[in-house]
Amino acid sequence: MRIVFLGPQGSGKGTQAKIISEILNVPHISTGDLLREVEGELRKQVDEYMLKGQLVPVEIVVQVLKQRIEKPDCKKGFILDGFPRSLEQAQELEKEIEIDKYFEIFISDEEAIKRLSGRRTCSKCGAIYNVNSDAKPLVDGKCDKCGEGLFQREDDKEEAIKKRLEIYHNETEPTIEKYDVIRVNGKQGIESVSHDILDKFDS
Ligand code: AMP
Repeated sequence: MRIVFLGPQGSGKGTQAKIISEILNVPHISTGDLLREVEGELRKQVDEYMLKGQLVPVEIVVQVLKQRIEKPDCKKGFILDGFPRSLEQAQELEKEIEIDKYFEIFISDEEAIKRLSGRRTCSKCGAIYNVNSDAKPLVDGKCDKCGEGLFQREDDKEEAIKKRLEIYHNETEPTIEKYDVIRVNGKQGIESVSHDILDKFDS
């Protein structure tokens, strides 16, 4: 089963992709995570785009993605989170593999900005919190799990968020229209969203 999860930043697509990948027992592949892990010479080039909230050039994303999906654990399928984000990327994907299902988790821009501007990540274990919701840490600025400091991703700052949403509307949405996408309301609680997604597998 090869599945794509799309959705504006802050829609919870990453959270859902992770939950559903554990249920289906297939790897969760986030192009954002793959790009954050890039090392060596490419790092500087990737940061030039990523830190401003812009799309990283297609050749780079395709290169890191291909390396990942060629690994043996992807043979049984995978959940792709955050790719394709443009028509050009969709064409590249079609050349490589056939996707079984596309999901879009949708939320309003207003909700996306509220969620993203509150997101804080642990610099050590990667745990994610949100200071604008019930998911805030017990102690301000400290991780509940390991006590390390929390930071705000450079691309979760307001200017970058606006840029990312603009890209989503201008580049990703026209891509979505190309496919028979299953739309799920991301404004609900995490469990309800997962439930709605799993429901669509049965039908
Ligand atoms: P995300 O973690 O999905 O919000 O992605 C973080 C950042 O990684 C984006 O703002 C882009 O700079 C970059 N990125 C992730 N996926 C892609 C993609 N499919 N194409 C180009 N850039 C990407």
